[in-house]
Amino acid sequence: MYAMEINNVTYRYDSGVEALKNLSLQIPLGAKVALLGPNGAGKSTLLHHLNGLKVPDEGSIKIMGDQITKKSAPAIRRKVGLVFQDPDDQVFSGTVWDDVAFGPRNLHMTEEEVEEVCHAALGNVGMLEYKHTPPYQLSYGQKKRVAIAGILSMRPDIVILDEPMAFLDPAGQDEVAGLLQGLNYMGKTILLSTHDVNFAASWADMVILLKDGELLTAGDISLLIDESYIKEANLHLPIIARTFKMVPDYADALPINEQDAYRILFKMFNEKDKYIY
Ligand code: ADP
Repeated sequence: MYAMEINNVTYRYDSGVEALKNLSLQIPLGAKVALLGPNGAGKSTLLHHLNGLKVPDEGSIKIMGDQITKKSAPAIRRKVGLVFQDPDDQVFSGTVWDDVAFGPRNLHMTEEEVEEVCHAALGNVGMLEYKHTPPYQLSYGQKKRVAIAGILSMRPDIVILDEPMAFLDPAGQDEVAGLLQGLNYMGKTILLSTHDVNFAASWADMVILLKDGELLTAGDISLLIDESYIKEANLHLPIIARTFKMVPDYADALPINEQDAYRILFKMFNEKDKYIY
């Protein structure tokens, strides 16, 4: 069984724009997936399909084996949580606690269950001490974490995030990256859209490249150093790969991320007479 199965999905907006064109993809359970592509590629449109917010004009989508239909969408939304790009679209209650409790209460959980899931969700994102704080008093990064907690409180198996790193400062990005890593260790499948090739290269285990509503390719992170795809998707090589491109003999064996670079450097130091003058 896959976490998500997208079969020949086409979607047109009322304006006539075909935002997804005959898209097919399978995402394994437990994967950490980065969805990349230029603005207008169809990333948000695709993410909105995966928790039933939008329904395909053609084709079908299965979440953990169950097809999304208008009828099944509410149940599917308990399995797939979608975190919007702007936390202000998601975080609106009087206090952080009420905000995170909104989903569970809507699902008619008992107050005891609500207490348990909200406590765990706010603990997961490191925001428990702010539970009585009104969201408008929080920083952007803190609001983002509350938005994520609001999804976690519904205990989804799959967490989808639309550009989670956008507008966060570097420390905030590191916090969210650590949080997403932790959620994956807990067994959750994570799919996020991003423009950040460096983050995708060091975090993801699968990448999907979209352009003009079509799938360019999907596979492991080595695609991020495949210059033909990178160019076609209006991306650039990870900075570590660009650095190694300057080193003689290594321009054709580029590292994807820091660990990969360390492996290559280790080898280079063993051949240091050749590189260090
Ligand atoms: P991305 O997230 O990759 O930037 P989107 O999914 O937002 O791409 O958009 C895909 C295409 O659909 C673009 O051509 C965009 O202009 C169009 N689009 C997005 N939202 C709407 C809308 N509400 N009405 C009409 N067209 C839209």
